[in-house]
Amino acid sequence: MPSTELELPQADDGGTEPPVRCEACRSAFESESQQTVSFLLLDQLTIPVLSCDDHLQEFTAVCGLTSEDSADLLDHLPAGGVRCPGCRNARYDSSHPLVPVQDGGVVITACPTHQSAIVERFRAGLRTHEQLTATLGTTHSATR
Ligand SMILES: [Zn+2]
Ligand SMILES: [Zn+2]
Repeated sequence: MPSTELELPQADDGGTEPPVRCEACRSAFESESQQTVSFLLLDQLTIPVLSCDDHLQEFTAVCGLTSEDSADLLDHLPAGGVRCPGCRNARYDSSHPLVPVQDGGVVITACPTHQSAIVERFRAGLRTHEQLTATLGTTHSATR
């Protein structure tokens, strides 16, 4: 079981990208096509996200851990569109912070508000997940 480190890049980081080993993730980030964007549906929110299928599934599952409704994933724009204008107008590219997910990562191409909302959710889900799978004696450094 690899340890899951969640370190968000600082808002002002100058282009130092965390290593993403998953090639499918990397090619999703490099593509400028909106067709690679998926949409995470969680608690009435529609959040555009960018990653490979595997890591999107993982990310969605973790986010769903702390949600009463299950999180959903669409590979196309939902019928109602993206309600938040900030998210709708966000550039669907990898200029957004990357959230590490195992050996890959998810780029949340949403407005800052929803970006942090979903990151919070993901972190809470990770904590829940870690509690479920925690073994005594496992120490994580530098986690708050
Ligand atoms: Zn991936
Ligand atoms: Zn938004």
